[in-house]
Amino acid sequence: MDVLTMAWHAAGAPDVEPPTREGLCARCGAGGPLIAATEVVSRSFTGYDGWADPGRTGVCPPCAWAYRHPPLRATAHLVTRAGQLQALTPTEVGEHLEVPLSADRALIVPLHPGRKHLAPTAAWGRVTIEDAHLSWAPADVERLAALRRVRRLGFGSRMLTAPAPPWSMLSRLPAENYPALLADWAALDPWQSRRPWLDLALYATVADTGVPPAAPRPRSPLSNLRKARR
Ligand SMILES: [Zn+2]
Repeated sequence: MDVLTMAWHAAGAPDVEPPTREGLCARCGAGGPLIAATEVVSRSFTGYDGWADPGRTGVCPPCAWAYRHPPLRATAHLVTRAGQLQALTPTEVGEHLEVPLSADRALIVPLHPGRKHLAPTAAWGRVTIEDAHLSWAPADVERLAALRRVRRLGFGSRMLTAPAPPWSMLSRLPAENYPALLADWAALDPWQSRRPWLDLALYATVADTGVPPAAPRPRSPLSNLRKARR
């Protein structure tokens, strides 16, 4: 069973519109009761990539639900082959990414909520984000841990997309932090050229962002003068 159909069953097999006839689903090709596609997607809909046959005029109940159930576009979800559908906060997504993603799970994570329908193309063992289906291997788990450590030092999302830590932040940290920090930063290198993985990791770790250390105060000539007078 594909991810979408499993999610639909887990949600209680809802009908968003009563089916009106039998036939083959335009999106997934499954045979059975159909709902008119015009009831499901708007006239301006253009996301027909991956549809079995966009020329057909009906979609099956799970496909109809995928396009007409707003929470699927707004919130991250976990689907399991055991029949679980669970909404997740970004922090909870991060918890699931602390282990490699197994083939009996699927994560659907709208990084830009509401923009695209992700559930119809979700796949087992993948994190579905906009325009990509990501594997999540042991190396990604390690990189995520490195990213969390760097974040806790106060580096924000935008800084983390740079190839090296910005000096403005580095100069505020004790020098004994440098070796570990630079090693963690280097560990993120493969993600610099695999931005979807980095974007997902940044989304899932926003809550880890530490408070940046205060910049050291430049000594003003005035304070030196005061000292000299004491
Ligand atoms: Zn279908």
